[in-house]
Amino acid sequence: MSLELNQLTKKFNENTAVDDINLTVPTGSMYGFLGGNGAGKTTTFRMILGLLKQTEGTITYNGKPIDYSVTNRIGYLPEERGLHPKLKVEEQIRYLAQLKGMSKKDIDVKLDEWLERFEVPENRDKRIEKLSKGNQQKIQLIASIIHEPDLIILDEPFSGLDPVNVEILKRSVKELNSNGATIIFSTHRMEHVEEMCEELCILNHGAQVVSGNIDKIKSDFGQKEIIIEGD
Ligand code: ATP
Repeated sequence: MSLELNQLTKKFNENTAVDDINLTVPTGSMYGFLGGNGAGKTTTFRMILGLLKQTEGTITYNGKPIDYSVTNRIGYLPEERGLHPKLKVEEQIRYLAQLKGMSKKDIDVKLDEWLERFEVPENRDKRIEKLSKGNQQKIQLIASIIHEPDLIILDEPFSGLDPVNVEILKRSVKELNSNGATIIFSTHRMEHVEEMCEELCILNHGAQVVSGNIDKIKSDFGQKEIIIEGD
């Protein structure tokens, strides 16, 4: 049971954004994609999500080519946050949850639960534009995972957040993982991956530098700090 990327490649004209990625994300794991600007993290995620067609290679989920029945349910936190500034928090989450096919009854229950867990219950009647960046990020994450998907992809979930919100987000993401979701996230920072994941893939200019078990990679590299170019 896993998500597998085989010889996954994406070219934009002459630019090879993702170059022959081969890796396995075990079901139920937390998997980190580490890389600097332009490393190919978002492009890889967009191919998994079916938003971009790969130039070469395959993506399989639990042994079958990934298709809309899977991609439609993936919980996705995009790097460009897509909230509507004029909507109230509750309206925004309800709107996005309905697009995921949730019933009003389910949304009623889950909305309270997730606002509590992310420590933003008092914000439900505020307009998005009135929230801090950290709280906006939390609202976007709630909207991405409120339907409780099996697979969650988070594109730089911790970027631009203050340390308190980073901790709240990390705790919530760990909770989602211990409740059974497979989580993939990207970051520029090794410390996030070390704290959260057992496995990672390091990308550099589209190429897979190394992937697999973090402890093994660290001992193979023979150093604690792995410097990410472009960070
Ligand atoms: P960042 O941390 O800055 O978000 P990233 O690792 O997510 O970086 P990508 O956004 O996947 O990197 O970009 C990888 C490469 O692909 C870059 O050279 C980028 O300019 C290029 N690229 C991404 N999307 C497109 C596109 N739609 N058209 C052309 N080139 C693109």
